[in-house]
Amino acid sequence: KTSDSDDLLALLHGELVALLDDGAKTRTLASTPGEPNVWMFVGVNGVGKTTTIAKVAQRETEIGRQVVLAAADTFRAAAAEQLGHWAERVGADMVRGQEGADPGSVVFDAMSAATSRGADLVLVDTAGRLHTKVNLMNELEKLRRIVERTPGALKEVLLVLDATTGQNGLAQAREFADAVDVTGVVLTKLDGTAKGGIVLAIESELGIPVKLVGIGESAADLLPFDPHEFVAAL
Ligand code: GDP
Repeated sequence: KTSDSDDLLALLHGELVALLDDGAKTRTLASTPGEPNVWMFVGVNGVGKTTTIAKVAQRETEIGRQVVLAAADTFRAAAAEQLGHWAERVGADMVRGQEGADPGSVVFDAMSAATSRGADLVLVDTAGRLHTKVNLMNELEKLRRIVERTPGALKEVLLVLDATTGQNGLAQAREFADAVDVTGVVLTKLDGTAKGGIVLAIESELGIPVKLVGIGESAADLLPFDPHEFVAAL
């Protein structure tokens, strides 16, 4: 179509945006007013799940929503403690269990608490690592079924991916998407040198929209995903 390198870049830009923006994808997080909406966060340890939950909690409380955090990674005491610090900082309630408690009971209690307090959102932090991958995926699937006992409550299952992991992110996305119906991706650590090009593969191969990006370690460092900006940066 062209022999000019600037034109070529513009063409490439357009192709990539079109690949991401097919007009059918919703990138906002779903919720229904007047009932507790559950957003589950899944992903391997260290990708930024807990930090992302804190960011989302802050964003939602700022717009006047009442948020309950469910510390359903009961396999690591440190996970609940970290979430507890964030809950205090962003002004959200938190439900946690003893270390080793059934994660399902934590989710159940958090949903009951949300209903009795008239809260809008339950954000569920899940385990990122168990003895085997099969155990982890079974556990997540079990949690999903517990949430779904309340029909319509589960609005989002968000897979958190670290932009610096490259191709491995695609492998993770495939595994989690097989086990639980992932509704969106949160791409963290885009503030570093990583450009997160793996997003193109995830969106075109798995059809999962990227909904949010993390651009730092503080609670304000969260942005909606914008295909145009992303491609321009890439
Ligand atoms: P989890 O194990 O998935 O819950 O991960 P954490 O939320 O504990 O985060 C792991 C590390 O990544 C922490 O040091 C976070 O501060 C850091 N982190 C999380 N999100 C971002 C981000 O968007 N940018 C940067 N630079 N660091 C992040």
